[in-house]
Amino acid sequence: MPKRIILCPIGFVEGDVLDRIARSIERRCGVAGIISAGMENPAYAYDRGRGQYNSKLILKHLSECCPDDGLMFMGITHVDLFVPILKYVFGLAEIKGRCAVISTHRLRPEYYGESPDPPIFLARMEKTALHELGHCFGLTHCRDRRCVMYSSTHIEHTDLKKPDFCPTCLELFKWYLEKSAIPRQLKADSS
Ligand SMILES: [Zn+2]
Ligand SMILES: [Zn+2]
Repeated sequence: MPKRIILCPIGFVEGDVLDRIARSIERRCGVAGIISAGMENPAYAYDRGRGQYNSKLILKHLSECCPDDGLMFMGITHVDLFVPILKYVFGLAEIKGRCAVISTHRLRPEYYGESPDPPIFLARMEKTALHELGHCFGLTHCRDRRCVMYSSTHIEHTDLKKPDFCPTCLELFKWYLEKSAIPRQLKADSS
């Protein structure tokens, strides 16, 4: 069965966000990107004290229902994500795994008191998805601020990046893509 990249909306996510990410990842991996049936809001991951959602619990859930033909299974949610050691994360991925989750919440200009700006928002979503994709295939953070694998701890970092791997990360990415090894380990990210 051919492998596919599967994007899963968790709660409400705009169609153009899903399409942009599917096409972008598809281009890098050379396999079909499809959008699966959505999941409901991840109430099981809500932390009442923080008013946010624990991304590790969402990732665990995705991992448990990851389709066999999923080269990658990425959940995309509108809820605000955290990991216990950080105030927030833009996304979380399994290093050398198949699952990742990213959030639209802090990528919208409106979150920072600015006017809605769909091109900026979509570019941020694409970069965040590619970053987590890189982690899934085994890439770690890059020191090149323009590389999509640079760690974003603030939205400014995301805006500075290009939606592409630097030459070194690209070579590694291609290599890992061919090998596609699967030992699992969590990688927390402010990006
Ligand atoms: Zn790089
Ligand atoms: Zn990262």
